Amino acid sequence: MAARNYNIPELRRLDVEHHLPAQANYAELQRIGGSRIITRAEGSTIYDGEGNAILDGMAGLWCVNVGYGREELVRAAAEQMQELPFYNTFFKTATPPTVMLAAKLAEKLGGKLQHVFFNASGSEANDTVMRLVRYYWSLKGEPKRTVFISRRNAYHGSTMAGASLGGMAHMHPIGGLPIPGIEHVAQPYKFNEGFNEDEEAFGARVAQEIEDRIIKVGPENVAAFIGEVVQGAGGVIIPPKGYWKRVEAICEKYGILLVVDEVITGFGRLGEWFGFQHFGVTPDLVPMAKGLSSGYLPISAVGVSSDIVKVLRDGNGEFAHGYTYSGHPVAAAVALKNIEIIEREGLVERVKNDAGPYFAEALKRLEGDPLVGEVRSLGLIGAVEIVAKKGTNERFTGKEGKAGPIVRDTCIKNGLMVRGIRDSVVMCPPLIITHAEIDRMIDIIGRSLREAE
Ligand code: PLP
Repeated sequence: MAARNYNIPELRRLDVEHHLPAQANYAELQRIGGSRIITRAEGSTIYDGEGNAILDGMAGLWCVNVGYGREELVRAAAEQMQELPFYNTFFKTATPPTVMLAAKLAEKLGGKLQHVFFNASGSEANDTVMRLVRYYWSLKGEPKRTVFISRRNAYHGSTMAGASLGGMAHMHPIGGLPIPGIEHVAQPYKFNEGFNEDEEAFGARVAQEIEDRIIKVGPENVAAFIGEVVQGAGGVIIPPKGYWKRVEAICEKYGILLVVDEVITGFGRLGEWFGFQHFGVTPDLVPMAKGLSSGYLPISAVGVSSDIVKVLRDGNGEFAHGYTYSGHPVAAAVALKNIEIIEREGLVERVKNDAGPYFAEALKRLEGDPLVGEVRSLGLIGAVEIVAKKGTNERFTGKEGKAGPIVRDTCIKNGLMVRGIRDSVVMCPPLIITHAEIDRMIDIIGRSLREAE
């Protein structure tokens, strides 16, 4: 499709005058004269209004797994829109793509995760989790089990429940969060919080904090533990060996539900359909979004175990929860087609056997950089830790802002979109990224580290 001509200066003016973008500092946006306007994209490349081609090392916002410009997804949406653009799943109705998508997800989740509840966003999925879990315990005759254990620096969304479950300290004062009934424990961030510790010992120590908190709160009051398989927005924090197995054992020991947030890690990101399959654990609930439709339309889901659904059925009451767009037929049709593309092109296997290992090798080229303290990756998600002193985890101080955002801005100037999170640069490219593009991504980060120094 030919690129449309936009009046970019006018759009940026309108952006400042009328638009309040998500998670933004509005004074800063006004100072810089508005947002960068992204006008189109193809494959793994986005284009801005000034005509710059930028390699998208972030797959949009951790979501465009199959890459941009997929005509099949456009057609799937158009056909469904023509036939039935909307019908709801309230009041004992459903639509074909919604039901077919639920069955498909049950197949991919496997085991006891045979049921699916739909929402429009990852945040809504986690709101669903919170209400569903508390409802489950009340039906089971244990209504005191309301407490969720989560982790500091976790990200579970931006709604009242999502941001409260999340452990981003800077988000909590906005809106008077967290809401009651949420306990935050340590995150498994070895580079920052267990630098000199043995990996397994560190994993055991942070997992033990979960058990200690359960005992402190009283196991009879604890409903669930929730964690991202790999923390994304927190800085791509890959848990140490043994951590997830320990967490699962602790949940089992106290009869606590295990919720694994797969909003970023689902749909091939870690080289399996879901990240929990990589770590060999069996959650009770699995919120997912993003890669479910590769971001082409908003849709999210919660995978729910048969044990939970049995209790809901035995209770024979109404789960009075759900959204107008729960199971939206057009979004579901696009998600189904997206999954078909991932299957047909073997993208999950590609991440595991080809692109993931290639990315890990390429990242190693940055290890010698005097500013790099650590590189880490799993599948096609990774981070570069920036340090002030090689061989330590000492950070830069005295610069405006943290090192990550400074290097991120230089990367964008050099034609690569990444994210800067505190003192790290993180990457989460489309699963179709080529070897040459991976090389370019790493070269640009290396060059930008030198320029930003
Ligand atoms: N959970 C995780 C792990 C996420 O990374 C995100 C978003 O980045 C969310 C939940 C919230 O999803 P959404 O922004 O679609 O509400």
